[in-house]
Amino acid sequence: EPLDENRMSRATLEAMWDAVTRHRHRLLPYFERKAQLMGSERLAWYDVHVPAIRSEARMTYDEAATFILEQFARFSPDMAALARRAFEERWIEAEDRPNKRAGGFCTSFPVSRQSRIFMTFSGAPSNVGTLAHELGHAYHQHVIDDLPPLAQNYPMNLAETASTFAERVVTDAAIHHTTDPTTRLALIEQQVLDCVSFFMNIHARFLFETAFYEARRSGPLSVEELNRLMVDAQRRAYHDALAEYHPHFWASKLHFYITEAPFYNFPYTFGFLFSTGIYARALAEGAGFARRYADLLRDTGRMTTEELAARHLGVDLTRPDFWEEAVETALAPVERFLELSAGGAPAGNGDH
Ligand SMILES: [Zn+2]
Repeated sequence: EPLDENRMSRATLEAMWDAVTRHRHRLLPYFERKAQLMGSERLAWYDVHVPAIRSEARMTYDEAATFILEQFARFSPDMAALARRAFEERWIEAEDRPNKRAGGFCTSFPVSRQSRIFMTFSGAPSNVGTLAHELGHAYHQHVIDDLPPLAQNYPMNLAETASTFAERVVTDAAIHHTTDPTTRLALIEQQVLDCVSFFMNIHARFLFETAFYEARRSGPLSVEELNRLMVDAQRRAYHDALAEYHPHFWASKLHFYITEAPFYNFPYTFGFLFSTGIYARALAEGAGFARRYADLLRDTGRMTTEELAARHLGVDLTRPDFWEEAVETALAPVERFLELSAGGAPAGNGDH
């Protein structure tokens, strides 16, 4: 049922998890380095997703807008034009004021064919990526907004294709352009942490739910049994590398309780890797890719994911090749992080 809702086959899901499982051990040296930077022997569950590097650098909203427009234009003039319109027509509510919640989202209005973005722009380096991410959603909507409503209805696993792509374009450029070593390392670490989330945390949830449904056939499970299944899944997904796990994760995570969407986990990893694979293509193909990219987004609401990939990328998602390339691209920042943090955290990164 969750596969149907995401319009993908079991073979695709397995090919994806296979590639992830084969390569994610490359995150383990990051865990070791991070433990060193944090002055501990071995990371625990609660350390893993906290960045070890923090940048105090700040960028103004106008600087961010200019930077995003420049970077979008390198990949797609169309995407840049839509983003320019969003800035000029004030589609974005980004003010940083007390009591406003963090995070961002983008919503679209079918009649006016416009989007609106809500986020808090504090100027932190990661905010530029968030703003690009939300503009990616707006661009996705823009590409499909003249289609009939039913053909605009893309599944969850494709919903983050355009946003993740836009974010990656801008974050990679920011890593390249910044002159501050701490900011560079902090941005790279954010990309590494994405891999930890999508390859380990999300996979642990998937393994847990698989084991849970299997065990539930023979009757209700006690708290102890649920805890045990949870820790087993976490140990497997994190390669037994952590000092402590989170047995009650099943109780604290909302996603396990969304009854109309079981396995509310793998679409995240799919979306991340699908988009990363497209980004790898865009880098390889240069300017000619923009047209194909728009065509691909246009079909996200009216094809299965396998048809979409076959028609617009010429790949078979049930085979390992596409996933291998995507995992490889996603893991590239790990080596950069290890290289740049070899002598400890860059100067200027104190405990403030
Ligand atoms: Zn998003």
